[in-house]
Amino acid sequence: MNIITNASDMQKTMQKYKSEGKSIGFVPTMGYLHEGHKSLLQEARKRHDIVALSIFVNPLQFGPNEDFDTYPRDLKRDETIASEMGVDVIFYPTVQEMYGEELTVSVKVTNRTDALCGRKRPGHFDGVATVLTKLFNIVLPDEAFFGLKDAQQVAIVQGMVEDFNFPVKIVPVTTVREEDGLAKSSRNVYLLEEERKQAPQLYQSLLLAKESIEEGVTNSSSVVSLIESHIKETTNGIIDYVEVYSYPQLKTVEQLSGKIIIALAVKFSKARLIDNIIFEI
Ligand code: AMP
Repeated sequence: MNIITNASDMQKTMQKYKSEGKSIGFVPTMGYLHEGHKSLLQEARKRHDIVALSIFVNPLQFGPNEDFDTYPRDLKRDETIASEMGVDVIFYPTVQEMYGEELTVSVKVTNRTDALCGRKRPGHFDGVATVLTKLFNIVLPDEAFFGLKDAQQVAIVQGMVEDFNFPVKIVPVTTVREEDGLAKSSRNVYLLEEERKQAPQLYQSLLLAKESIEEGVTNSSSVVSLIESHIKETTNGIIDYVEVYSYPQLKTVEQLSGKIIIALAVKFSKARLIDNIIFEI
Protein backbone atom coordinates (compact mmCIF):
# COMPACT_ATOMS: atom_id res chain seq x y z
CA MET A 1 0.00 0.00 0.00
CA ASN A 2 1.28 3.35 -1.11
CA ILE A 3 0.87 6.54 1.00
CA ILE A 4 1.16 9.73 -1.01
CA THR A 5 1.13 13.24 0.45
CA ASN A 6 1.82 15.28 -2.68
CA ALA A 7 -1.11 16.13 -5.00
CA SER A 8 0.88 16.03 -8.20
CA ASP A 9 2.51 12.67 -7.29
CA MET A 10 -0.94 11.30 -6.50
CA GLN A 11 -2.35 12.52 -9.82
CA LYS A 12 0.58 10.98 -11.74
CA THR A 13 0.14 7.67 -9.91
CA MET A 14 -3.55 7.60 -10.75
CA GLN A 15 -2.90 8.61 -14.38
CA LYS A 16 -0.51 5.66 -14.64
CA TYR A 17 -3.15 3.25 -13.33
CA LYS A 18 -5.64 4.64 -15.85
CA SER A 19 -3.18 4.31 -18.73
CA GLU A 20 -2.85 0.63 -17.78
CA GLY A 21 -6.64 0.33 -18.21
CA LYS A 22 -7.33 -0.08 -14.48
CA SER A 23 -10.59 1.14 -12.98
CA ILE A 24 -10.43 3.34 -9.87
CA GLY A 25 -12.79 3.34 -6.90
CA PHE A 26 -12.36 6.28 -4.52
CA VAL A 27 -13.39 6.72 -0.89
CA PRO A 28 -12.90 10.26 0.46
CA THR A 29 -12.77 10.48 4.28
CA MET A 30 -11.51 12.57 7.16
CA GLY A 31 -9.91 9.48 8.70
CA TYR A 32 -10.27 7.86 12.12
CA LEU A 33 -11.73 4.97 10.18
CA HIS A 34 -14.60 2.85 11.47
CA GLU A 35 -17.02 0.24 10.13
CA GLY A 36 -18.89 2.89 8.11
CA HIS A 37 -15.75 3.79 6.17
CA LYS A 38 -14.92 0.10 5.89
CA SER A 39 -18.19 -0.66 4.13
CA LEU A 40 -17.40 2.05 1.54
CA LEU A 41 -13.94 0.56 1.05
CA GLN A 42 -15.40 -2.93 0.74
CA GLU A 43 -17.82 -1.77 -1.94
CA ALA A 44 -14.98 -0.02 -3.81
CA ARG A 45 -12.79 -3.13 -3.49
CA LYS A 46 -15.55 -5.32 -4.96
CA ARG A 47 -16.02 -3.11 -7.99
CA HIS A 48 -12.58 -1.77 -8.92
CA ASP A 49 -9.02 -2.73 -9.81
CA ILE A 50 -7.59 0.08 -7.71
CA VAL A 51 -8.96 1.43 -4.43
CA ALA A 52 -7.88 4.94 -3.43
CA LEU A 53 -8.64 6.33 0.02
CA SER A 54 -8.13 9.96 0.96
CA ILE A 55 -7.67 11.07 4.55
CA PHE A 56 -7.94 14.80 4.94
CA VAL A 57 -9.58 16.79 7.72
CA ASN A 58 -10.78 19.62 5.53
CA PRO A 59 -10.69 22.99 7.32
CA LEU A 60 -13.00 24.57 4.71
CA GLN A 61 -15.94 22.49 5.86
CA PHE A 62 -15.65 23.39 9.56
CA GLY A 63 -17.22 26.51 11.05
CA PRO A 64 -15.20 28.78 13.38
CA ASN A 65 -16.69 27.22 16.53
CA GLU A 66 -16.63 23.63 15.31
CA ASP A 67 -14.25 20.78 16.11
CA PHE A 68 -11.55 21.11 13.42
CA ASP A 69 -8.70 21.23 15.95
CA THR A 70 -10.00 18.40 18.12
CA TYR A 71 -11.34 16.15 15.32
CA PRO A 72 -9.88 12.67 16.07
CA ARG A 73 -6.81 11.82 13.98
CA ASP A 74 -4.73 8.62 14.02
CA LEU A 75 -2.88 7.84 10.80
CA LYS A 76 -1.12 4.70 12.10
CA ARG A 77 -4.43 3.15 13.07
CA ASP A 78 -6.01 4.20 9.76
CA GLU A 79 -3.09 2.70 7.83
CA THR A 80 -3.59 -0.69 9.47
CA ILE A 81 -7.33 -0.67 8.72
CA ALA A 82 -6.77 0.52 5.14
CA SER A 83 -4.25 -2.18 4.47
CA GLU A 84 -6.58 -4.84 5.93
CA MET A 85 -9.31 -3.56 3.60
CA GLY A 86 -7.06 -3.94 0.55
CA VAL A 87 -6.59 -0.24 -0.16
CA ASP A 88 -3.96 0.33 -2.87
CA VAL A 89 -3.18 3.96 -2.26
CA ILE A 90 -3.84 6.48 0.51
CA PHE A 91 -3.79 10.16 -0.35
CA TYR A 92 -2.85 12.01 2.84
CA PRO A 93 -2.15 15.67 2.06
CA THR A 94 -1.51 18.53 4.47
CA VAL A 95 -3.73 21.60 4.50
CA GLN A 96 -0.85 23.56 2.93
CA GLU A 97 -0.58 20.98 0.12
CA MET A 98 -4.31 21.24 -0.63
CA TYR A 99 -4.84 24.98 -0.31
CA GLY A 100 -1.45 26.74 -0.35
CA GLU A 101 -1.64 30.34 0.81
CA GLU A 102 -5.08 31.07 -0.62
CA LEU A 103 -7.49 29.80 -3.26
CA THR A 104 -8.30 31.76 -6.41
CA VAL A 105 -11.52 29.83 -7.05
CA SER A 106 -13.81 27.92 -4.72
CA VAL A 107 -17.12 26.11 -5.23
CA LYS A 108 -20.42 27.49 -3.96
CA VAL A 109 -23.39 25.19 -3.49
CA THR A 110 -26.58 26.91 -4.68
CA ASN A 111 -29.24 24.28 -4.10
CA ARG A 112 -30.10 21.52 -1.58
CA THR A 113 -28.06 23.39 1.03
CA ASP A 114 -30.72 25.55 2.69
CA ALA A 115 -31.92 22.67 4.90
CA LEU A 116 -30.61 20.22 7.49
CA CYS A 117 -26.86 20.57 8.16
CA GLY A 118 -26.43 23.06 5.32
CA ARG A 119 -28.66 25.57 7.11
CA LYS A 120 -27.13 24.89 10.51
CA ARG A 121 -23.53 24.91 9.28
CA PRO A 122 -23.21 27.86 6.86
CA GLY A 123 -20.45 27.28 4.30
CA HIS A 124 -20.07 23.61 5.23
CA PHE A 125 -21.14 22.22 1.86
CA ASP A 126 -19.18 24.87 -0.05
CA GLY A 127 -16.13 23.44 1.74
CA VAL A 128 -17.17 19.88 0.91
CA ALA A 129 -17.79 20.73 -2.77
CA THR A 130 -14.49 22.58 -3.05
CA VAL A 131 -12.40 19.79 -1.55
CA LEU A 132 -14.18 17.14 -3.63
CA THR A 133 -13.59 19.11 -6.82
CA LYS A 134 -9.89 19.02 -6.02
CA LEU A 135 -9.92 15.39 -4.93
CA PHE A 136 -11.80 14.21 -8.04
CA ASN A 137 -9.24 16.00 -10.22
CA ILE A 138 -6.34 14.53 -8.28
CA VAL A 139 -7.63 10.95 -7.85
CA LEU A 140 -9.42 10.63 -11.24
CA PRO A 141 -11.88 8.00 -9.99
CA ASP A 142 -14.41 6.09 -12.10
CA GLU A 143 -16.64 5.81 -9.06
CA ALA A 144 -16.64 7.57 -5.68
CA PHE A 145 -18.33 6.04 -2.64
CA PHE A 146 -20.31 8.07 -0.08
CA GLY A 147 -22.26 7.04 3.00
CA LEU A 148 -25.97 7.76 3.26
CA LYS A 149 -25.42 8.69 6.89
CA ASP A 150 -24.51 12.02 5.31
CA ALA A 151 -27.49 11.95 2.96
CA GLN A 152 -27.47 15.69 2.26
CA GLN A 153 -23.83 15.37 1.21
CA VAL A 154 -24.77 12.58 -1.21
CA ALA A 155 -27.61 14.71 -2.67
CA ILE A 156 -25.32 17.73 -3.12
CA VAL A 157 -22.38 15.77 -4.53
CA GLN A 158 -24.70 14.05 -7.00
CA GLY A 159 -25.98 17.48 -8.04
CA MET A 160 -22.45 18.83 -8.38
CA VAL A 161 -21.28 15.90 -10.51
CA GLU A 162 -24.26 16.38 -12.85
CA ASP A 163 -23.96 20.19 -13.00
CA PHE A 164 -20.22 20.21 -13.66
CA ASN A 165 -20.08 17.03 -15.75
CA PHE A 166 -17.48 15.31 -13.60
CA PRO A 167 -16.65 11.96 -15.24
CA VAL A 168 -17.30 10.07 -12.01
CA LYS A 169 -20.25 8.03 -10.78
CA ILE A 170 -21.38 8.61 -7.19
CA VAL A 171 -22.25 5.40 -5.36
CA PRO A 172 -24.33 5.84 -2.18
CA VAL A 173 -23.76 3.24 0.56
CA THR A 174 -26.20 2.30 3.36
CA THR A 175 -25.49 3.59 6.88
CA VAL A 176 -23.58 1.15 9.08
CA ARG A 177 -24.84 0.98 12.67
CA GLU A 178 -23.79 -0.37 16.04
CA GLU A 179 -25.80 -3.35 17.25
CA ASP A 180 -28.06 -1.03 19.25
CA GLY A 181 -28.80 1.07 16.14
CA LEU A 182 -26.47 4.04 16.73
CA ALA A 183 -25.00 5.16 13.39
CA LYS A 184 -21.22 4.64 13.42
CA SER A 185 -19.34 7.92 13.50
CA SER A 186 -15.83 9.10 14.27
CA ARG A 187 -17.47 11.55 16.69
CA ASN A 188 -19.09 8.80 18.81
CA VAL A 189 -15.86 8.65 20.86
CA TYR A 190 -16.84 12.02 22.34
CA LEU A 191 -20.02 10.69 23.94
CA LEU A 192 -20.03 10.43 27.74
CA GLU A 193 -21.00 7.00 29.09
CA GLU A 194 -24.56 8.07 29.87
CA GLU A 195 -24.94 9.79 26.48
CA ARG A 196 -23.68 6.69 24.67
CA LYS A 197 -26.49 4.72 26.34
CA GLN A 198 -29.05 7.29 25.21
CA ALA A 199 -27.74 7.84 21.68
CA PRO A 200 -29.48 4.79 20.06
CA GLN A 201 -32.77 6.58 20.80
CA LEU A 202 -32.06 8.87 17.85
CA TYR A 203 -32.42 5.99 15.41
CA GLN A 204 -35.31 4.59 17.46
CA SER A 205 -37.16 7.89 17.05
CA LEU A 206 -36.68 7.71 13.26
CA LEU A 207 -38.04 4.16 13.21
CA LEU A 208 -41.06 5.23 15.30
CA ALA A 209 -41.69 8.03 12.81
CA LYS A 210 -41.52 5.61 9.90
CA GLU A 211 -43.94 3.29 11.69
CA SER A 212 -46.37 6.16 12.28
CA ILE A 213 -46.30 6.98 8.56
CA GLU A 214 -46.93 3.35 7.69
CA GLU A 215 -49.89 3.47 10.06
CA GLY A 216 -51.38 6.46 8.25
CA VAL A 217 -49.79 9.71 9.47
CA THR A 218 -49.47 11.92 6.38
CA ASN A 219 -48.20 15.32 7.51
CA SER A 220 -44.59 16.12 8.32
CA SER A 221 -45.32 18.32 11.33
CA SER A 222 -46.82 15.34 13.22
CA VAL A 223 -43.78 13.26 12.33
CA VAL A 224 -41.43 15.99 13.56
CA SER A 225 -43.37 16.37 16.86
CA LEU A 226 -43.29 12.63 17.46
CA ILE A 227 -39.53 12.50 17.02
CA GLU A 228 -38.88 15.60 19.11
CA SER A 229 -40.95 14.26 22.03
CA HIS A 230 -39.21 10.90 21.88
CA ILE A 231 -35.74 12.45 21.94
CA LYS A 232 -36.63 14.85 24.75
CA GLU A 233 -38.08 12.00 26.82
CA THR A 234 -35.23 9.55 26.34
CA THR A 235 -32.03 11.63 26.07
CA ASN A 236 -30.27 14.66 27.54
CA GLY A 237 -29.38 15.79 24.02
CA ILE A 238 -30.37 19.19 22.65
CA ILE A 239 -32.20 18.96 19.34
CA ASP A 240 -30.48 20.93 16.58
CA TYR A 241 -33.03 19.99 13.93
CA VAL A 242 -35.62 17.39 12.98
CA GLU A 243 -36.75 17.84 9.39
CA VAL A 244 -38.60 16.00 6.64
CA TYR A 245 -37.98 16.59 2.91
CA SER A 246 -38.29 15.01 -0.49
CA TYR A 247 -35.08 13.17 -1.40
CA PRO A 248 -32.72 13.96 -3.06
CA GLN A 249 -34.27 17.37 -3.91
CA LEU A 250 -34.59 18.37 -0.22
CA LYS A 251 -37.79 20.30 -0.83
CA THR A 252 -40.41 20.80 1.89
CA VAL A 253 -43.20 18.22 1.82
CA GLU A 254 -46.19 18.98 4.03
CA GLN A 255 -48.26 15.99 2.83
CA LEU A 256 -45.91 13.04 2.69
CA SER A 257 -45.52 11.14 -0.56
CA GLY A 258 -42.79 9.82 -2.87
CA LYS A 259 -39.22 9.34 -1.68
CA ILE A 260 -38.61 11.19 1.57
CA ILE A 261 -35.84 11.73 4.10
CA ILE A 262 -36.43 12.17 7.80
CA ALA A 263 -33.26 13.57 9.32
CA LEU A 264 -32.10 14.87 12.67
CA ALA A 265 -29.13 16.38 14.45
CA VAL A 266 -28.78 16.31 18.22
CA LYS A 267 -26.10 17.95 20.34
CA PHE A 268 -24.67 16.08 23.29
CA SER A 269 -22.08 17.65 25.58
CA LYS A 270 -19.12 17.12 23.26
CA ALA A 271 -20.59 15.54 20.13
CA ARG A 272 -23.22 16.59 17.62
CA LEU A 273 -24.75 13.45 16.11
CA ILE A 274 -26.73 13.19 12.88
CA ASP A 275 -28.88 10.40 11.51
CA ASN A 276 -31.60 9.88 8.92
CA ILE A 277 -33.80 7.40 7.18
CA ILE A 278 -34.83 7.54 3.54
CA PHE A 279 -37.78 5.62 2.17
CA GLU A 280 -40.53 5.62 -0.40
CA ILE A 281 -44.17 6.20 0.57
P1 AMP B 1 -16.09 11.25 7.19
O1 AMP B 1 -14.74 10.67 7.44
O2 AMP B 1 -16.93 11.40 8.42
O3 AMP B 1 -16.03 12.50 6.35
O4 AMP B 1 -16.85 10.19 6.32
C1 AMP B 1 -16.31 9.71 5.12
C2 AMP B 1 -17.36 8.91 4.39
O5 AMP B 1 -17.78 7.83 5.20
C3 AMP B 1 -18.61 9.75 4.06
O6 AMP B 1 -19.07 9.40 2.77
C4 AMP B 1 -19.57 9.30 5.12
O7 AMP B 1 -20.93 9.42 4.74
C5 AMP B 1 -19.20 7.83 5.27
N1 AMP B 1 -19.69 7.33 6.56
C6 AMP B 1 -19.47 7.87 7.79
N2 AMP B 1 -20.14 7.15 8.73
C7 AMP B 1 -20.79 6.17 8.07
C8 AMP B 1 -21.64 5.11 8.48
N3 AMP B 1 -21.97 4.92 9.75
N4 AMP B 1 -22.13 4.28 7.52
C9 AMP B 1 -21.81 4.45 6.21
N5 AMP B 1 -21.00 5.43 5.78
C10 AMP B 1 -20.50 6.28 6.68
